[in-house]
Amino acid sequence: MELSLLGRTGLKISRLIFGALPMGPLQGDLSVEFGAELLRKAFDLGINFVDTAESYGTYSHIKEALKGNENRVYVATKSTAHDFSGMEASVHRALKEMALEQIDVFHLHAARTRIPFEERKGAFECLLKCKEKGLVRSIGISTHSIKAVRDAALVEEIDVIHPLINKEGMGIIDGTAKEMMDAIAFAASRGKGIYAMKALAGGYFMRDAWEAFNYVKSSPYIHGVAVGMVSFEELKANARFFSEEEISIESMGQLQKEEKRLIILGFCKGCGKCVKACPNNALRLVDGKSVVNPEICILCGYCNPVCPEFAIRVV
Ligand code: SF4
Ligand code: SF4
Repeated sequence: MELSLLGRTGLKISRLIFGALPMGPLQGDLSVEFGAELLRKAFDLGINFVDTAESYGTYSHIKEALKGNENRVYVATKSTAHDFSGMEASVHRALKEMALEQIDVFHLHAARTRIPFEERKGAFECLLKCKEKGLVRSIGISTHSIKAVRDAALVEEIDVIHPLINKEGMGIIDGTAKEMMDAIAFAASRGKGIYAMKALAGGYFMRDAWEAFNYVKSSPYIHGVAVGMVSFEELKANARFFSEEEISIESMGQLQKEEKRLIILGFCKGCGKCVKACPNNALRLVDGKSVVNPEICILCGYCNPVCPEFAIRVV
């Protein structure tokens, strides 16, 4: 597996990063045992970086996978906390629940916001404190916004940026794929470590996986690509691709079978919380129920946690 330096962090990460969102209860809901087995297999294949978030519900899977593991594996996580005390609680929760002494990358999980450093000043200050104390090794921001990437590029204390980028710019909230690539190049030129999310737009480009991965992977400014995986087949196909091997027709077929979509169950009460939470305007209320536009939904997972009825599923 090819390794790459993540900006100035000193972390030498595998270019294929294990994205933990789909294994958690918001999507695939894998058991802790199976999730841990999959992660351990990923470590054996040379993947040394796991990307998760407090809201993904996968800390137990990661803790289990890291038990007795001898490979050096880096972990990035995120919190949507807005203020100092909220972020402090998030950092301690991550350390405790993954049984870690230090989090390699801790992101402001930016969700919809385009100006996280103003809106979430307290949370950012907390991360600076945690870095000083050695609880966090590097500070990052995950974002769907071009403006946030450009802003973060100018903030000296930000080490890592985790932007959404794919060949058609699906899910970018304020511009095109080309504009995001330009912002990424600018951020990388300022020494930021960059790893991408949503190269397949939540499975939307599964049928063009090869082209979609290449679009992101071929950028010299992107040091790694986080890809969600829930099966050994997906893991093996992606690992082969990132090791510069051709993916066989059979593996591509297997990947296509793994296509996922978001559904709203019939007991939706039409409260509209999910509509407000979706950064991509993929949801709207029709006759008192939430309805998803599958052409726009990128399975980012922001809507699931806000539903009080647990009516949103990915199948
Ligand atoms: S509908 Fe939900 S999963 Fe789909 S893009 Fe919107 S917030 Fe993300
Ligand atoms: S948050 Fe849940 S209950 Fe409310 S509109 Fe969305 S799906 Fe329906």
